[in-house]
Amino acid sequence: MKIGVIGFQGDVEEHINILKKLGEKYNNIEPVRIRNKEHLSEVSAIIIPGGESTTIYKLILEYGIYDNIIERVRNGTPLMGTCAGLIIASSSTNDPRVVGMGLLDVDIQRNGYGRQGDSFMNEVEIDGIGRFLAVFIRAPVIKSVNQGKVMASYSGKAIMVRDKNVLGLTFHPELTEDTKIHEYFIRMIGGEGGVSTGMHAGSVRVK
Ligand code: GLN
Repeated sequence: MKIGVIGFQGDVEEHINILKKLGEKYNNIEPVRIRNKEHLSEVSAIIIPGGESTTIYKLILEYGIYDNIIERVRNGTPLMGTCAGLIIASSSTNDPRVVGMGLLDVDIQRNGYGRQGDSFMNEVEIDGIGRFLAVFIRAPVIKSVNQGKVMASYSGKAIMVRDKNVLGLTFHPELTEDTKIHEYFIRMIGGEGGVSTGMHAGSVRVK
């Protein structure tokens, strides 16, 4: 099963390395760097990485895959957006330079933790996953969750939300050694949590 990482800017290699590492445990995981429609059409799930959301957004538009991503995810393809990836997947942002795809119905404030909070780490408790060291880098704030389930919060604010086949995080699981969130995403692709489109259920095998 191919899992694609939108591969223009940001933590692309970091996500790919975690997926490679998990390939040792799940024998049919193959990470793919997505840069065009052909790559996108090959994958069973999509990750939009952390990075600079204005840049990633611009390149997604320039390479002509903005509408294709929306169509795939609306048709049930699982999506995980981390940090900048969440901003791009959201339904609204406070910055006209990044128009959210409307795939996760949350309202976003970019760089919402302010300058002092440019970077910090905190151990958080995630529903169904457990303790996780969350790394926040110029993180967005989720101002409101209009639809979906809040899986984790930090200082009274949602930091991880899932709505059916879409998972959004304000932090960077790709920047730690801990693979629990990527494993959760792989289980999501396999249908856990009631999102299966029927297309890939059962395709995730643990060695
Ligand atoms: N602040 C960044 C942005 O708005 C996102 C943070 C990140 O992905 N590290 O693009």
